[in-house]
Amino acid sequence: MLRDNLHQIQDRIQQACLRSKRLPEEVTLIAVSKTKPISMIEEIMAEQVVDFGENKPQELKKKYESLPENLRWHMIGHLQRNKVKYIIGKACLIHSVDTVGLAQTIDTEAEKHQLIMPVLVEVNIAREDSKFGVMQENVLDFIKEISKFPHIHVDGLMTIAPYTENPENNRKYFKELKKLYVDIKGKNIDNVTMCNLSMGMTGDFEVAIEEGATMVRVGTGIFGERDYSI
Ligand SMILES: *Cc1c(COP(=O)(O)O)cnc(C)c1O
Repeated sequence: MLRDNLHQIQDRIQQACLRSKRLPEEVTLIAVSKTKPISMIEEIMAEQVVDFGENKPQELKKKYESLPENLRWHMIGHLQRNKVKYIIGKACLIHSVDTVGLAQTIDTEAEKHQLIMPVLVEVNIAREDSKFGVMQENVLDFIKEISKFPHIHVDGLMTIAPYTENPENNRKYFKELKKLYVDIKGKNIDNVTMCNLSMGMTGDFEVAIEEGATMVRVGTGIFGERDYSI
């Protein structure tokens, strides 16, 4: 049952909070529903979960339009500029801003909708060739640059840590991202708040919480394995 999976994940979040003396309210669980049908999302919604994550703009749009308006849709995947238009006014937070061009397009679309779009900057903290994201040493300049767009608000950082069987292997990356987050927060840049640190997935969310995550993105642990063949 999906609700049992969910409750187990929620328990483990609670335990990780206790271990690290953090309040459970400080950590938002984002249920990553990509590839999963509406019926499964409804099962999780019934347990008072309102935060859902998607990585394809058209899929986010479709699910947004099919489900109640109180849900909060997080755009967590790599975003192409020509697809930004599908999600502005629908996504509550874009976790994956990593180029000035993308930020520019988000700004333009947000202006059309007369809203200010909260975004996170994706950081390639482990410097993996296979991953998107800004390199650590460029994050401060990048944030200064995109914070000038009037219809964007920079709300924090996000990373996708390397795939590993042992979550302890990722602790150093989560620590580094937290440090970067605190450093940038301390600079008090206009239009930048650094309130959210989105890190941790099914395989490593507890370690991420211990290191300061405010948002964890859990898919497989709630919905089961994804089938990309259909
Ligand atoms: C799919 C995805 C997740 C969830 O991954 P699981 O290992 O299934 O928990 C989290 N973050 C991003 C960016 C994803 O694309």
